[in-house]
Amino acid sequence: WKNALPGLDALLDLSRTHGERLFTTLDDQRISYEANWRATAALARAFFQMGVRKGDRVAFAMRNLPEWPVIFFAITTIGAIAVPLNAWWTGAELAYGIRDSGAKLLIVDTERHARLAGHLDALTELERVIVARATEPVAGATALEDIVGVPGNWADLPDLPRPQVELDRDDDATIFYTSGTTGSPKGALGTHRNLMTNILSAAFSAARSFLRRGELVPEPQPRTTLTVIPLFHVTACSAILMGAMAAGHRIIFMRKWDTVQAMEIIEREKVNMTGGVPTIAWQLIEHPDRAKYDLSSLEVISYGGAPSAPELVKRIREEFGAMPGNGWGMTETMATVTSHNAEDYLNRPESAGPPVATADLEIRADDGVTELPTSTVGELWARGPMIVKGYWNKLEATAETFVDGWVRTGDLARIDDEGFLFVVDRAKDMVLRGGENIYSSEVENVLFEHPAVTDCAILAIPHRTLGEEPAAVVHLAPGTSASEAELQEWVRARLAAFKVPVAIRFVADTLPRNANGKILKKNLKSLFTSIK
Ligand code: ATP
Ligand code: MG
Repeated sequence: WKNALPGLDALLDLSRTHGERLFTTLDDQRISYEANWRATAALARAFFQMGVRKGDRVAFAMRNLPEWPVIFFAITTIGAIAVPLNAWWTGAELAYGIRDSGAKLLIVDTERHARLAGHLDALTELERVIVARATEPVAGATALEDIVGVPGNWADLPDLPRPQVELDRDDDATIFYTSGTTGSPKGALGTHRNLMTNILSAAFSAARSFLRRGELVPEPQPRTTLTVIPLFHVTACSAILMGAMAAGHRIIFMRKWDTVQAMEIIEREKVNMTGGVPTIAWQLIEHPDRAKYDLSSLEVISYGGAPSAPELVKRIREEFGAMPGNGWGMTETMATVTSHNAEDYLNRPESAGPPVATADLEIRADDGVTELPTSTVGELWARGPMIVKGYWNKLEATAETFVDGWVRTGDLARIDDEGFLFVVDRAKDMVLRGGENIYSSEVENVLFEHPAVTDCAILAIPHRTLGEEPAAVVHLAPGTSASEAELQEWVRARLAAFKVPVAIRFVADTLPRNANGKILKKNLKSLFTSIK
């Protein structure tokens, strides 16, 4: 007997009840929930007619366009497997994702199509290519608009049923690729259950602070979110997109992050929620023209997916009066595993929050078996209905990472006596100096407290006898200054001497990050090649 946790088909149909309320917005294109449903149903019918069946992989790659959720739900609600590819990838990387997933159908915007130009012929398993937003016919490809029309006209599509395919909550639904921060990206094979768990978890987490205070949980109010993190990252898809569909929120997309444009949108559209990754918040904070905009509609600035300094919590509160939010998760967990909100976060700004109601966490020793005592740093393991089955096509990596229903995260963390998680580093990034472990986050957090620092990273640089030493890359807010010696002194006054970065490099821009907001530490190491 199986209980009735619904699949993505149920979420899509539920979202239709929000009717004429706006779902997605990009520039002057405003798509209602009803229009989104009709376009999704039309595309699902077309996919079905093209012969797409249960278990088939359909890959797609594009910017955050209103077409993205239409394509995602058209694929998954007929039982096929959606493979959202990273739109930042090169042609060769996109070709890898298409080949690795064995996709038979590909949908891309014109930019991705151009990038794939030299690769498509070799992708023999692909039966059809669909191009979105082409201004002229593309040889060898079908135009998405020929199937569902242009987004502005989706509301006028006929009210026809969507194909009814029987879905089990344990059917495969998605292959999301990991960010490739520590190695090459791996496809995590997720089910309807894995994804839908996020809706359940979010509802409990939102209620938790009220329940703790013994207050009634208020009805969720429809809100407007400005989303700049890409939907091909599972957090944006599950926490933002699916969360919006459950609650009836509106999502505003931007073509590309631009702080001034973001502030204009927040003021004009009275945006209530934004964030995604910590850097977005920092860029708003450090912008010299910020005071010119009315950002008072902002209620929540939440982020996850990358380490964030406690200083950010303070600054968000002071400078926007908004509530900060944080969450820990990974592609292998289909996003949210911890969720940190409201007073809980203000009181414990170093934490990534307690586990959501559906997850269990353990801190284990290097052997991967022994559970460590409360507040001891070790490797984080997680379990729950959001953990994916494994990696697509990668038996060995699957066996190493997924053990007895648990996922081995590769993150170093501790859990306090109230169950709050504190992520201190990735195991691969920790600085091993002689016999001492230096966790990047500890030093980074202290640097962030310096009034001039708005971005920084600690790296391990090789040392002949000690093995490794900590070095820092720092970005200062425009119009401020701080010397290497001053920052070293700042750290020395607050942490043990061996944690003081032996060298600090200053960079003019915020640090290079991948699409999910993670600093590309690998790429920064070359800044220190002259150090012996
Ligand atoms: P790859 O596994 O391919 O090297 P990746 O681990 O960066 O890439 P993701 O699945 O996008 O790919 O990221 C998960 C990782 O992000 C976690 O293991 C953790 O290191 C980091 N992370 C996520 N959320 C947080 C958070 N709130 N605080 C600190 N780190 C976080
Ligand atoms: Mg990872």
